[in-house]
Amino acid sequence: MAQANPIPLVDLKAAHAEIAEEVAAGFERVLATTGFVGGPEVAAFEQEFAAFSGVRHCVGVANGTDAVELALRAAGVRRDDEVVLPANTFIATAGAVARLGAVPVLVDCDPDSYLIDVQAALAAVGPRTAAVLPVHLYGQHAAVEELTEKLAGTDVRVVEDAAQCQGATRNGRGAGVGGIAATSFYPGKNLGAYGDGGAVVTDDPQLARQVRALANHGGLTKYSHDMVGFNSRLDALQAVVLRAKLRRLPQWNAARRAAAVRYAELLDDVPGIVLPPTLEGNEHVWHLYVVRVEAFDGDRVRRDALVSALNAQGIGAGVHYPAALHLTPAFAHLGYPEGAFPHAEAAAARLISLPLHPHVTEAQQRRVAEALATALG
Ligand SMILES: *Cc1c(COP(=O)(O)O)cnc(C)c1O
Repeated sequence: MAQANPIPLVDLKAAHAEIAEEVAAGFERVLATTGFVGGPEVAAFEQEFAAFSGVRHCVGVANGTDAVELALRAAGVRRDDEVVLPANTFIATAGAVARLGAVPVLVDCDPDSYLIDVQAALAAVGPRTAAVLPVHLYGQHAAVEELTEKLAGTDVRVVEDAAQCQGATRNGRGAGVGGIAATSFYPGKNLGAYGDGGAVVTDDPQLARQVRALANHGGLTKYSHDMVGFNSRLDALQAVVLRAKLRRLPQWNAARRAAAVRYAELLDDVPGIVLPPTLEGNEHVWHLYVVRVEAFDGDRVRRDALVSALNAQGIGAGVHYPAALHLTPAFAHLGYPEGAFPHAEAAAARLISLPLHPHVTEAQQRRVAEALATALG
Protein backbone atom coordinates (compact mmCIF):
# COMPACT_ATOMS: atom_id res chain seq x y z
CA MET A 1 0.00 0.00 0.00
CA ALA A 2 1.29 3.41 -0.95
CA GLN A 3 -0.22 4.88 2.22
CA ALA A 4 1.90 2.54 4.34
CA ASN A 5 5.02 4.16 2.91
CA PRO A 6 4.40 7.87 2.99
CA ILE A 7 6.95 10.20 1.43
CA PRO A 8 7.10 13.29 3.62
CA LEU A 9 7.72 16.78 2.27
CA VAL A 10 10.46 17.09 4.90
CA ASP A 11 11.82 14.30 7.12
CA LEU A 12 12.76 15.69 10.50
CA LYS A 13 12.96 12.22 12.07
CA ALA A 14 15.75 11.14 9.73
CA ALA A 15 17.65 14.35 10.48
CA HIS A 16 17.22 13.82 14.23
CA ALA A 17 18.49 10.24 14.01
CA GLU A 18 21.85 11.57 12.76
CA ILE A 19 22.33 13.99 15.63
CA ALA A 20 20.45 12.31 18.47
CA GLU A 21 23.50 11.49 20.56
CA GLU A 22 25.08 14.91 20.21
CA VAL A 23 21.80 16.56 21.11
CA ALA A 24 21.30 14.40 24.19
CA ALA A 25 24.82 15.17 25.42
CA GLY A 26 24.31 18.87 24.74
CA PHE A 27 20.99 18.94 26.58
CA GLU A 28 22.74 17.34 29.58
CA ARG A 29 25.36 20.09 29.50
CA VAL A 30 22.66 22.77 29.54
CA LEU A 31 20.59 21.03 32.22
CA ALA A 32 23.67 20.80 34.42
CA THR A 33 24.10 24.57 34.31
CA THR A 34 20.36 25.52 34.15
CA GLY A 35 21.35 28.46 31.96
CA PHE A 36 18.42 28.21 29.59
CA VAL A 37 18.36 31.57 27.82
CA GLY A 38 21.54 32.72 26.11
CA GLY A 39 24.79 31.45 27.65
CA PRO A 40 27.79 29.65 26.19
CA GLU A 41 25.89 27.35 23.79
CA VAL A 42 24.12 30.33 22.22
CA ALA A 43 27.34 32.35 22.02
CA ALA A 44 29.14 29.42 20.39
CA PHE A 45 26.33 28.90 17.90
CA GLU A 46 26.27 32.60 17.03
CA GLN A 47 30.00 32.49 16.28
CA GLU A 48 29.70 29.30 14.26
CA PHE A 49 26.73 30.54 12.23
CA ALA A 50 28.44 33.87 11.54
CA ALA A 51 31.53 32.03 10.28
CA PHE A 52 29.37 29.70 8.20
CA SER A 53 27.54 32.69 6.70
CA GLY A 54 30.73 34.61 5.98
CA VAL A 55 29.73 37.58 8.14
CA ARG A 56 31.22 39.08 11.28
CA HIS A 57 28.15 39.08 13.53
CA CYS A 58 25.19 36.85 14.28
CA VAL A 59 22.53 37.60 16.88
CA GLY A 60 20.25 34.70 17.81
CA VAL A 61 16.60 35.66 18.34
CA ALA A 62 13.32 33.90 19.11
CA ASN A 63 12.05 33.30 15.56
CA GLY A 64 12.44 34.40 11.97
CA THR A 65 9.59 36.88 12.00
CA ASP A 66 11.19 38.72 14.93
CA ALA A 67 14.51 38.53 13.07
CA VAL A 68 13.00 40.35 10.07
CA GLU A 69 11.38 42.97 12.28
CA LEU A 70 14.52 43.50 14.38
CA ALA A 71 16.70 43.78 11.28
CA LEU A 72 14.33 46.39 9.83
CA ARG A 73 14.25 48.33 13.11
CA ALA A 74 18.03 48.26 13.43
CA ALA A 75 18.28 49.46 9.83
CA GLY A 76 16.24 52.48 10.84
CA VAL A 77 12.77 51.62 9.54
CA ARG A 78 10.11 53.47 11.54
CA ARG A 79 6.34 53.66 11.81
CA ASP A 80 4.67 54.88 8.57
CA ASP A 81 7.79 54.28 6.49
CA GLU A 82 7.33 52.19 3.37
CA VAL A 83 9.09 48.87 2.85
CA VAL A 84 9.15 47.32 -0.64
CA LEU A 85 8.78 43.53 -0.74
CA PRO A 86 7.57 40.79 -3.09
CA ALA A 87 3.91 39.71 -3.23
CA ASN A 88 5.14 36.10 -3.54
CA THR A 89 6.56 35.19 -0.14
CA PHE A 90 5.58 33.71 3.21
CA ILE A 91 3.20 35.95 5.16
CA ALA A 92 5.81 36.66 7.87
CA THR A 93 7.89 38.87 5.56
CA ALA A 94 5.06 41.38 5.34
CA GLY A 95 3.86 40.63 8.88
CA ALA A 96 7.15 41.84 10.33
CA VAL A 97 6.83 45.10 8.39
CA ALA A 98 3.23 45.67 9.45
CA ARG A 99 3.97 44.82 13.09
CA LEU A 100 6.44 47.66 13.39
CA GLY A 101 3.85 50.03 11.94
CA ALA A 102 5.51 50.41 8.55
CA VAL A 103 3.64 49.98 5.26
CA PRO A 104 4.35 47.00 2.99
CA VAL A 105 4.60 48.12 -0.64
CA LEU A 106 4.24 45.00 -2.75
CA VAL A 107 5.84 44.25 -6.10
CA ASP A 108 5.50 41.33 -8.49
CA CYS A 109 7.89 38.43 -8.87
CA ASP A 110 9.82 37.22 -11.88
CA PRO A 111 7.63 34.77 -13.85
CA ASP A 112 10.33 32.06 -14.05
CA SER A 113 12.27 32.22 -10.78
CA TYR A 114 9.30 33.50 -8.69
CA LEU A 115 11.80 35.78 -6.90
CA ILE A 116 11.30 39.51 -6.42
CA ASP A 117 11.26 41.50 -9.69
CA VAL A 118 14.18 43.80 -9.02
CA GLN A 119 13.18 46.38 -11.65
CA ALA A 120 9.69 46.57 -10.15
CA ALA A 121 11.23 46.98 -6.71
CA LEU A 122 13.40 49.87 -7.88
CA ALA A 123 10.41 51.48 -9.56
CA ALA A 124 8.43 51.21 -6.30
CA VAL A 125 11.03 53.15 -4.30
CA GLY A 126 9.64 56.59 -3.44
CA PRO A 127 10.18 59.42 -0.95
CA ARG A 128 8.69 57.40 1.95
CA THR A 129 10.64 54.20 1.25
CA ALA A 130 12.95 53.26 4.11
CA ALA A 131 13.94 49.78 2.94
CA VAL A 132 13.64 47.13 0.26
CA LEU A 133 13.15 43.61 1.62
CA PRO A 134 14.04 41.00 -1.01
CA VAL A 135 13.29 37.38 -0.13
CA HIS A 136 15.68 34.59 -1.13
CA LEU A 137 12.81 32.21 -1.70
CA TYR A 138 12.92 28.41 -2.08
CA GLY A 139 16.67 28.25 -1.38
CA GLN A 140 18.27 30.63 -3.85
CA HIS A 141 19.25 34.27 -3.78
CA ALA A 142 17.31 36.92 -5.61
CA ALA A 143 19.58 38.90 -7.97
CA VAL A 144 19.87 41.88 -5.66
CA GLU A 145 23.19 43.38 -6.78
CA GLU A 146 21.50 45.95 -9.01
CA LEU A 147 19.25 46.92 -6.11
CA THR A 148 22.20 47.23 -3.75
CA GLU A 149 24.23 49.24 -6.25
CA LYS A 150 21.45 51.66 -7.13
CA LEU A 151 20.44 52.21 -3.50
CA ALA A 152 24.01 52.59 -2.20
CA GLY A 153 24.52 56.12 -0.90
CA THR A 154 20.75 56.72 -0.53
CA ASP A 155 18.70 56.50 2.69
CA VAL A 156 17.04 53.30 1.48
CA ARG A 157 18.41 50.15 3.12
CA VAL A 158 18.38 46.63 1.69
CA VAL A 159 17.34 44.10 4.36
CA GLU A 160 17.37 40.49 3.17
CA ASP A 161 14.85 37.85 4.21
CA ALA A 162 17.14 34.83 4.21
CA ALA A 163 14.82 32.44 6.06
CA GLN A 164 14.91 29.87 3.24
CA CYS A 165 18.54 30.03 2.09
CA GLN A 166 20.94 28.93 4.84
CA GLY A 167 24.16 28.06 3.03
CA ALA A 168 23.12 29.48 -0.34
CA THR A 169 25.41 31.96 -2.05
CA ARG A 170 25.27 34.37 -4.97
CA ASN A 171 28.56 35.11 -6.72
CA GLY A 172 30.23 33.43 -3.76
CA ARG A 173 28.60 35.60 -1.10
CA GLY A 174 25.97 34.68 1.45
CA ALA A 175 23.04 36.73 2.69
CA GLY A 176 23.88 39.66 4.95
CA VAL A 177 27.40 40.15 3.62
CA GLY A 178 27.93 43.90 3.44
CA GLY A 179 24.41 44.55 4.74
CA ILE A 180 21.93 42.86 7.04
CA ALA A 181 19.85 39.69 6.72
CA ALA A 182 17.29 37.85 8.82
CA THR A 183 16.88 34.09 8.99
CA SER A 184 14.59 31.53 10.60
CA PHE A 185 15.31 28.27 12.36
CA TYR A 186 11.73 27.04 12.22
CA PRO A 187 12.02 23.22 12.31
CA GLY A 188 11.31 22.74 8.60
CA LYS A 189 13.95 25.20 7.40
CA ASN A 190 17.27 23.90 6.03
CA LEU A 191 18.76 24.65 9.45
CA GLY A 192 15.89 23.95 11.81
CA ALA A 193 15.65 23.99 15.61
CA TYR A 194 13.37 21.86 17.80
CA GLY A 195 11.01 24.75 18.25
CA ASP A 196 11.19 28.35 17.09
CA GLY A 197 14.40 30.26 16.55
CA GLY A 198 15.93 32.85 14.26
CA ALA A 199 18.92 35.11 13.75
CA VAL A 200 20.09 38.37 12.27
CA VAL A 201 23.46 38.38 10.50
CA THR A 202 25.51 41.41 9.52
CA ASP A 203 29.07 42.67 9.11
CA ASP A 204 28.20 45.91 10.85
CA PRO A 205 28.98 45.90 14.60
CA GLN A 206 26.62 48.83 15.23
CA LEU A 207 23.68 47.06 13.61
CA ALA A 208 24.48 43.88 15.51
CA ARG A 209 24.57 45.74 18.85
CA GLN A 210 21.30 47.46 18.03
CA VAL A 211 19.59 44.14 17.23
CA ARG A 212 20.99 42.54 20.37
CA ALA A 213 19.81 45.38 22.58
CA LEU A 214 16.38 45.57 20.95
CA ALA A 215 15.95 41.81 21.36
CA ASN A 216 16.99 41.92 25.01
CA HIS A 217 14.53 44.37 26.62
CA GLY A 218 16.30 47.32 25.06
CA GLY A 219 19.72 46.87 26.65
CA LEU A 220 22.95 44.94 26.39
CA THR A 221 23.35 44.28 30.11
CA LYS A 222 20.88 43.30 32.78
CA TYR A 223 18.68 46.17 33.98
CA SER A 224 20.08 48.64 31.49
CA HIS A 225 17.24 49.73 29.22
CA ASP A 226 18.23 52.32 26.65
CA MET A 227 15.01 51.89 24.72
CA VAL A 228 11.82 49.89 24.79
CA GLY A 229 12.75 46.50 23.39
CA PHE A 230 11.49 42.99 22.85
CA ASN A 231 12.06 39.73 24.62
CA SER A 232 13.30 37.79 21.59
CA ARG A 233 16.23 35.54 22.37
CA LEU A 234 17.53 32.18 21.30
CA ASP A 235 17.54 29.61 24.06
CA ALA A 236 20.37 27.27 24.94
CA LEU A 237 18.55 24.00 24.14
CA GLN A 238 17.82 25.25 20.62
CA ALA A 239 21.45 26.31 20.27
CA VAL A 240 22.55 22.75 21.07
CA VAL A 241 20.36 21.41 18.26
CA LEU A 242 21.43 24.12 15.83
CA ARG A 243 25.13 23.53 16.51
CA ALA A 244 24.74 19.81 15.82
CA LYS A 245 22.77 20.47 12.62
CA LEU A 246 25.08 23.25 11.43
CA ARG A 247 27.97 20.77 11.41
CA ARG A 248 26.02 18.66 8.92
CA LEU A 249 24.48 21.49 6.91
CA PRO A 250 27.06 21.60 4.08
CA GLN A 251 26.61 17.86 3.56
CA TRP A 252 22.81 18.09 3.92
CA ASN A 253 22.63 20.96 1.43
CA ALA A 254 24.78 18.91 -0.97
CA ALA A 255 22.32 16.02 -0.59
CA ARG A 256 19.48 18.43 -1.43
CA ARG A 257 21.36 19.55 -4.54
CA ALA A 258 21.89 15.94 -5.62
CA ALA A 259 18.17 15.27 -5.11
CA ALA A 260 17.30 18.33 -7.21
CA VAL A 261 19.53 17.06 -10.03
CA ARG A 262 17.78 13.70 -9.80
CA TYR A 263 14.33 15.30 -10.01
CA ALA A 264 15.44 17.26 -13.06
CA GLU A 265 16.40 13.97 -14.74
CA LEU A 266 13.31 12.07 -13.63
CA LEU A 267 10.88 14.85 -14.56
CA ASP A 268 12.56 15.95 -17.76
CA ASP A 269 10.01 14.41 -20.10
CA VAL A 270 6.91 14.66 -17.93
CA PRO A 271 4.56 16.89 -19.95
CA GLY A 272 2.78 19.85 -18.43
CA ILE A 273 5.27 20.84 -15.74
CA VAL A 274 8.07 23.38 -15.73
CA LEU A 275 11.12 22.68 -13.59
CA PRO A 276 12.61 25.29 -11.26
CA PRO A 277 15.54 27.29 -12.65
CA THR A 278 18.76 28.19 -10.84
CA LEU A 279 19.86 31.76 -11.53
CA GLU A 280 23.36 32.10 -12.93
CA GLY A 281 25.85 32.85 -10.17
CA ASN A 282 23.75 31.10 -7.53
CA GLU A 283 24.58 28.16 -5.33
CA HIS A 284 21.06 26.86 -4.60
CA VAL A 285 20.25 25.01 -1.37
CA TRP A 286 16.80 23.75 -2.45
CA HIS A 287 14.80 24.59 0.64
CA LEU A 288 11.82 23.73 -1.57
CA TYR A 289 11.66 21.99 -4.94
CA VAL A 290 8.91 23.89 -6.68
CA VAL A 291 7.52 22.89 -10.08
CA ARG A 292 4.96 24.82 -12.10
CA VAL A 293 1.92 23.08 -13.51
CA GLU A 294 1.23 24.47 -16.95
CA ALA A 295 -2.27 25.71 -17.47
CA PHE A 296 -3.72 23.77 -20.33
CA ASP A 297 -7.02 23.35 -18.60
CA GLY A 298 -7.31 25.75 -15.74
CA ASP A 299 -4.74 26.88 -13.21
CA ARG A 300 -5.66 26.39 -9.60
CA VAL A 301 -8.21 23.64 -10.14
CA ARG A 302 -5.76 21.47 -12.01
CA ARG A 303 -2.96 22.20 -9.54
CA ASP A 304 -5.12 21.48 -6.51
CA ALA A 305 -6.36 18.23 -8.07
CA LEU A 306 -2.76 17.20 -8.68
CA VAL A 307 -1.75 17.92 -5.09
CA SER A 308 -4.73 15.91 -3.84
CA ALA A 309 -3.86 13.01 -6.15
CA LEU A 310 -0.28 12.97 -4.83
CA ASN A 311 -1.38 13.31 -1.21
CA ALA A 312 -3.83 10.41 -1.68
CA GLN A 313 -0.83 8.22 -2.56
CA GLY A 314 1.02 9.29 0.56
CA ILE A 315 3.22 11.80 -1.25
CA GLY A 316 3.68 14.92 0.85
CA ALA A 317 3.37 17.50 -1.92
CA GLY A 318 2.67 21.03 -0.71
CA VAL A 319 1.90 24.52 -1.96
CA HIS A 320 4.16 27.51 -1.23
CA TYR A 321 2.14 29.68 -1.15
CA PRO A 322 -1.56 29.30 -1.97
CA ALA A 323 -2.27 33.04 -2.04
CA ALA A 324 -0.20 36.05 -3.04
CA LEU A 325 0.07 38.43 -0.08
CA HIS A 326 -2.31 41.06 -1.46
CA LEU A 327 -5.07 38.45 -1.76
CA THR A 328 -4.81 37.29 1.87
CA PRO A 329 -7.36 38.82 4.28
CA ALA A 330 -4.48 40.06 6.47
CA PHE A 331 -3.29 42.40 3.72
CA ALA A 332 -6.55 43.19 1.93
CA HIS A 333 -6.42 46.64 3.56
CA LEU A 334 -3.42 47.52 1.40
CA GLY A 335 -5.97 47.84 -1.40
CA TYR A 336 -4.28 45.96 -4.24
CA PRO A 337 -6.90 44.41 -6.53
CA GLU A 338 -6.82 40.92 -8.00
CA GLY A 339 -4.63 41.12 -11.10
CA ALA A 340 -2.25 43.63 -9.51
CA PHE A 341 0.63 41.12 -9.49
CA PRO A 342 -0.06 38.61 -12.27
CA HIS A 343 3.16 36.59 -11.86
CA ALA A 344 2.72 36.22 -8.11
CA GLU A 345 -0.90 35.23 -8.65
CA ALA A 346 0.14 32.67 -11.29
CA ALA A 347 2.72 31.28 -8.85
CA ALA A 348 0.03 30.92 -6.18
CA ALA A 349 -2.21 29.09 -8.65
CA ARG A 350 0.31 26.81 -10.35
CA LEU A 351 3.23 25.87 -8.09
CA ILE A 352 3.65 22.55 -6.32
CA SER A 353 6.43 21.70 -3.85
CA LEU A 354 7.67 18.13 -4.17
CA PRO A 355 9.23 16.15 -1.32
CA LEU A 356 12.89 17.13 -1.13
CA HIS A 357 15.14 16.94 1.91
CA PRO A 358 18.60 15.55 2.68
CA HIS A 359 17.31 12.05 3.34
CA VAL A 360 14.96 11.60 0.39
CA THR A 361 15.87 8.42 -1.53
CA GLU A 362 16.08 7.80 -5.24
CA ALA A 363 13.27 5.24 -4.93
CA GLN A 364 11.05 7.85 -3.28
CA GLN A 365 11.84 10.39 -5.97
CA ARG A 366 11.03 7.82 -8.66
CA ARG A 367 7.67 7.20 -7.05
CA VAL A 368 6.97 10.94 -6.98
CA ALA A 369 7.95 11.30 -10.65
CA GLU A 370 5.83 8.31 -11.68
CA ALA A 371 2.83 9.57 -9.75
CA LEU A 372 3.19 12.98 -11.42
CA ALA A 373 3.56 11.46 -14.88
CA THR A 374 0.48 9.27 -14.35
CA ALA A 375 -1.61 12.15 -13.04
CA LEU A 376 -0.58 14.43 -15.91
CA GLY A 377 -0.49 11.75 -18.59
C1 LIG B 1 9.92 30.91 7.74
C2 LIG B 1 9.94 32.24 7.12
C3 LIG B 1 9.87 33.42 7.88
C4 LIG B 1 9.52 33.48 9.34
O1 LIG B 1 10.18 32.65 10.16
P1 LIG B 1 9.52 32.11 11.53
O2 LIG B 1 10.70 31.55 12.22
O3 LIG B 1 8.51 31.10 11.15
O4 LIG B 1 8.93 33.26 12.25
C5 LIG B 1 10.03 34.64 7.22
N1 LIG B 1 10.21 34.69 5.90
C6 LIG B 1 10.25 33.59 5.14
C7 LIG B 1 10.46 33.72 3.67
C8 LIG B 1 10.09 32.32 5.72
O5 LIG B 1 10.13 31.24 4.94
